[in-house]
Amino acid sequence: MRSLSIFGATGSIGESTYDLIRRAPPGTYRTVALTGGRNIARLAEMARTLGAELAVTAYEECLPALRDALAGSGIAVAGGVQAIAEAADRPVDWTMSAIVGAAGLVPGLRALRHGGTLALANKESLVTAGPLLMRTAQAHGATILPVDSEHSAVFQALTGEDPSCVERIIITASGGPFRDWSLDRMAKATLAEAVAHPNWAMGQRISIDSASMFNKALELIETREFFDIDPVRIEVLVHPQSIVHALVGFCDGGIMAHLGPADMRHAIGYALHWPDRGAVPVERLDLAKIVNLSFQAPDEARFPALRLAREVMEARGMHGAAFNAAKEIALDHFIAGGIAFPRMALLVEETLSRISTRSDMGTAPASLDHVLEVDAEARRIATAITEEA
Ligand code: NAD
Ligand code: MG
Repeated sequence: MRSLSIFGATGSIGESTYDLIRRAPPGTYRTVALTGGRNIARLAEMARTLGAELAVTAYEECLPALRDALAGSGIAVAGGVQAIAEAADRPVDWTMSAIVGAAGLVPGLRALRHGGTLALANKESLVTAGPLLMRTAQAHGATILPVDSEHSAVFQALTGEDPSCVERIIITASGGPFRDWSLDRMAKATLAEAVAHPNWAMGQRISIDSASMFNKALELIETREFFDIDPVRIEVLVHPQSIVHALVGFCDGGIMAHLGPADMRHAIGYALHWPDRGAVPVERLDLAKIVNLSFQAPDEARFPALRLAREVMEARGMHGAAFNAAKEIALDHFIAGGIAFPRMALLVEETLSRISTRSDMGTAPASLDHVLEVDAEARRIATAITEEA
């Protein structure tokens, strides 16, 4: 029986992971820890169904409600950021990292310390602290498997291939709801319009990041960090149908493309069954019905996040941590109605420019504290900029 924990169980990726675990024959998995946020009823329900050992809410003030909801179940409960980190110290064979934002970094790093497999949906971990994450995995004999659909696709296309023969990696982007919008129109975009992703059902934050293409920007950096490939070899192609998730071009001119339905249970299931392939209950593609697969170059003038990601990949060091933190603050302000949609990219760019005076920006992340310090400073700068405006 394999043991597992799910961080961010109540989110979009968490729910899809739960669905796969719940369907497995009894005795396949033993659930150790499940973590969530304020949706206590759902967290408790999941914990009971899977017979988890521990349920943790990220918010201490939600702990009494969680305790009530699980009274008499024998399931331990805990609350707060520290409790989430401690849940990651419980050794398991397989961990799903599906908290959204930089908050996913600490539990992911702690889970790596007991070896096992880390299924990484939380792309922010690689963007903020890629070298640190990879180093930690190596030191403890842990395996990191990508769960982002594009990165899972690349990983699958690379299996059995000679890395020195890889010429380029192409990740696709749906283009989001604003794919064909002018900048003027984007300036008036509402929250509801930004969240309405045409192809994927995802959490609110990643959906808005898809509209701004900050999600693809994070994924460019994620590709660079995970596959350790020269940034000039990484490309983005807009592909509105979201059927081809990524392509790998080899030195003989051949390209391996990965196709699948827009259902994250494929990538999650791949990481769950790896190194084998196991059946996953996603819809099967009917290519004759799809008819058309189209591709176009992204427009970096309307989606400056992509240009910023190129600059971050080039500069590396602590720039990923600053980029992600500034992006999170910009997103908070857009969600709160404080700034217009295109202003998010300007805010991130200005934060990167101001933080560049730090002498350590070009150095690799030395430790978790180092990453958290740069993250905190970038948040302070981004917040100060919004207050000046
Ligand atoms: P979501 O918002 O639906 O869920 C996030 C989960 O994290 C919830 O359980 C929430 O309670 C928890 N959480 C939020 N803030 C927290 C905090 N500060 N501390 C602890 N827990 C917290 O998000 P999602 O769409 O499932 O995305 C999760 C991660 O997976 C993100 O990093 C995202 O970029 C990545 N991802 C998501 C998808 C997708 O289809 N949803 C695809 C690829 C990658
Ligand atoms: Mg993705």
